[in-house]
Amino acid sequence: MANRLVSRMLFGAVLAIQGLGTVACVARPAAIDENSAPSIVVLGSAQDGGYPQIGCERACCARVRVDPSRRRFVSSLLIVDPRSGKRWLIDATPDLREQMAMVAGLPETRAVDGPRPPLCEGIFLTHAHVGHYAGLIHLGREIYAADRVPVYASARFRRFLATEGPWSLLVSAKHIELMPLEPGVPVELAPDLSIEPFLVPHRDEFSDTFGFLIRGPRRHVLFIPDIDKWEKWDRSLEAELLGVDLALLDGTFFEDGEVPGRAMAQVPHPFITETLNRLAPLSETERKKVLFIHLNHTNPALDPASGAAAEIRATGAGVASDGQRIGL
Ligand SMILES: [Zn+2]
Ligand SMILES: [Zn+2]
Repeated sequence: MANRLVSRMLFGAVLAIQGLGTVACVARPAAIDENSAPSIVVLGSAQDGGYPQIGCERACCARVRVDPSRRRFVSSLLIVDPRSGKRWLIDATPDLREQMAMVAGLPETRAVDGPRPPLCEGIFLTHAHVGHYAGLIHLGREIYAADRVPVYASARFRRFLATEGPWSLLVSAKHIELMPLEPGVPVELAPDLSIEPFLVPHRDEFSDTFGFLIRGPRRHVLFIPDIDKWEKWDRSLEAELLGVDLALLDGTFFEDGEVPGRAMAQVPHPFITETLNRLAPLSETERKKVLFIHLNHTNPALDPASGAAAEIRATGAGVASDGQRIGL
């Protein structure tokens, strides 16, 4: 109880600092007020390995071990709807335990029933890289023993989960229930709230890779935590930006050469510098919609006091933070 209270107080403080100031809003009819509207809670903003990352003793991670307030969980979102008391998770990360503690009791209208209430009404998975689905292990018999949590994933990803251990045990023991997720077909969470997957190019070893378009009653949000390069995508980033109010985009690396001892071409992502160059011809209104997420531990923009973070802010864009709330 005390832990829950502390986490809620911390969470409240983060919300109070961040407010909804980062949301660039395209005018839509405001039928419901900000407090009762659905929203997104950023559960994590780091790349798959989290921040700090295992084995890194350089300054980027050493400073976090000295000052844990700099810690960031692995990239994930929670959609909450206070009108129904429901909530849905996007990606299940290795940090799921702490992330669920961070949002205990959200939305406040959520009715919790029994000693092991459902953690959420559904989980939407982008792809089968460890930072995005390995948290499912927390739902199994050894830990939460969840009861048929709907897990939405692509056909290829569902086949992988159903046939490869340890995931197949979650399916056969009915801790999770696999649900279809097809590109271009929205899943309705409420009559005015939906999530629509689309394919993005990425290293697809075990699954294909989805980005998500989240449509709320007043705002539309694009979520693309992992993509190889904007140029390889069959859609135009600029055109997609025009259709949304906010975009949480792959900000894994700030610039080329950032990871010592690894050929960065083997782990392609759009460098933040590349994305900013691409956005430069757009209006400031469009650039303000962009929040970078999924930052690698080497990314200097993890530190708000860095030159890299200042460079991003100067364009109007920003970096997502854990606990940040985005009204839908
Ligand atoms: Zn990732
Ligand atoms: Zn990935």
